[in-house]
Amino acid sequence: MIELDEARQRLLAACPPVPPVLRAVADAGGCVLAAEVVASGAVPPFDNSSVDGYAVRSADLLGASPATPVTFEVLGSVLAGTVAATPVGPGQTWKVMTGAPLPPGADAVVMVENSSASAVAQLGSAGDRVALSAQVNHGAGVRRSGSDVRAGQRVLSEGTVLRPAHLGVLASVGARQVLVYPPLRVGVLVTGDELVSDGRPLEPGEIYESNRSMLMALLRRANCEPVDLGVAADNLDGLERRLAAAIMECDVLITSGGVSMGDSDPVKAVLDRLGRLNWLQIAIRPAKPFAFGVLDGPTLLMGLPGNPVSSLVSFELMARPALLHMMGHRNPVPAPLLGIADAELSRPVGDGRTAYLRVNSEFGPDGRLHVRPVPGQDSHQLAASAGADALAKVGDNRLVAAGDEVEVILLS
Ligand code: AMP
Ligand code: MG
Repeated sequence: MIELDEARQRLLAACPPVPPVLRAVADAGGCVLAAEVVASGAVPPFDNSSVDGYAVRSADLLGASPATPVTFEVLGSVLAGTVAATPVGPGQTWKVMTGAPLPPGADAVVMVENSSASAVAQLGSAGDRVALSAQVNHGAGVRRSGSDVRAGQRVLSEGTVLRPAHLGVLASVGARQVLVYPPLRVGVLVTGDELVSDGRPLEPGEIYESNRSMLMALLRRANCEPVDLGVAADNLDGLERRLAAAIMECDVLITSGGVSMGDSDPVKAVLDRLGRLNWLQIAIRPAKPFAFGVLDGPTLLMGLPGNPVSSLVSFELMARPALLHMMGHRNPVPAPLLGIADAELSRPVGDGRTAYLRVNSEFGPDGRLHVRPVPGQDSHQLAASAGADALAKVGDNRLVAAGDEVEVILLS
C-alpha cells in the first residue's frame, strides 16, 4: 500500500495541464485563465452620473438649502447612452439619468430628491426652470472614468478560476474571448455482468447500476464534459472495443469496477492491453484500489473501484484532483478544514489505512465546523453516504471521541 499523498503525486505527475484554447467569455465559466487579462480601456469609459438628478457646477450651489434654493435654467435631459449637446454654464443644468455621461462644464450631480421637480422619471426640457435645494461637493453624484478599472490595468491574473462575476468583468472590459484551459471530455464506462441499467425487473444475481449517473454528475460539477460510454459486461473483447473507440473522442476515460487486487477480472486484463497501467493500493478506506495510465492520444485512463461509495470517494480524492490539475487548477487537491466531531467517529482498526468517514457537517453557534457520521459506513451503502456532505479523516488506530478535533474534507 502507498499513502494517499504519494499516490496522488504520482497521478498528477502523469497528467500535465492540457493546451489552453481561446473560448468565448460566455462559455468560460468554471475554466482556469491561462493568461492574464489587461483592460485596453477604462471602466467606466467616461465620467457619468451615479444618480438621477441635475448636473451642475457645484460652485453655483454654494449656500443652497431648502430655505434658500437656487433656480437653474434646464438645458434638457441626458439619458444613459446619449450625450449632452452643449456644456453647462453658470446657472444652467442638464437633467441626467443614472449612467448618463456628465455634461461638459458640470462637476457634480444633485439628486432629483433635492429639486422642485416632483416626479423622478419626468424628463426636463429646454427652457424649464428648476429649484435645487442642496449644496453639493465637487464630484458628488459622479462616477469617475476608470474608477472601476484603469486603462492598462491587469483585471484578472493567470490561474484565476472564472466565477460568474469574473465573466462580467471580462465583458465589462470588452473581452469577447479568453485563453483558458478547456473543460475535459471524460468518458465514463461502468463494468459488471451483474449490472442492469434499463429499469427492467432484476433476474437473480443482478443489481441496478448506480455509478454512471453519479460519476457523470460529479464530472459536470468539476466543469468537465462527461461522455456516457454505457454499461459493459465483463467480457474481454467487448470491453476493449468500447474503450479503444472512446480513446479517440475523450481526453480522459474513467472506468468503474474490476480493479480490486487479486481479481482475475477481465477489466484488468483489458486495461493492461490498452497501455502501461499503474495498479495502486492506496492506504485509505474506502477506495483502496485505483488504476491509472496514459494511453495513446494522449488519454488519461483512471480505473475506479466498483463499490458505489468507493467510486465516490475515489473520485473525490484521486480522479477529481487529476482532472482539475489537467484543467489548469493551481490547487487541485482538496484542502482539509479542522472540524469538531459531535459523535464518536469509529472505524475498523489495525488495517494500516486512513479512513475517510462520510459525515454531515454544519457550522455551530461557536463558529466551528461540527461533523457527525452518517449511519452506514460500508462501501456498498450509497444511500447512507448520499446524505453526507463531507469526509472526516481518521487515521488507523486513532480514536476520535465526541468533542475531538478532526480533519474534514468538504465534498464537491
Ligand atoms: P468490482 O469492483 O467490479 O469488483 O465490484 C465491487 C462491487 O461493486 C460489487 O458488489 C459490484 O456488484 C458492485 N458494483 C460494481 N459496479 C457497480 C455499479 N456501477 N453500480 C452498482 N454497484 C456496482
Ligand atoms: Mg465487477
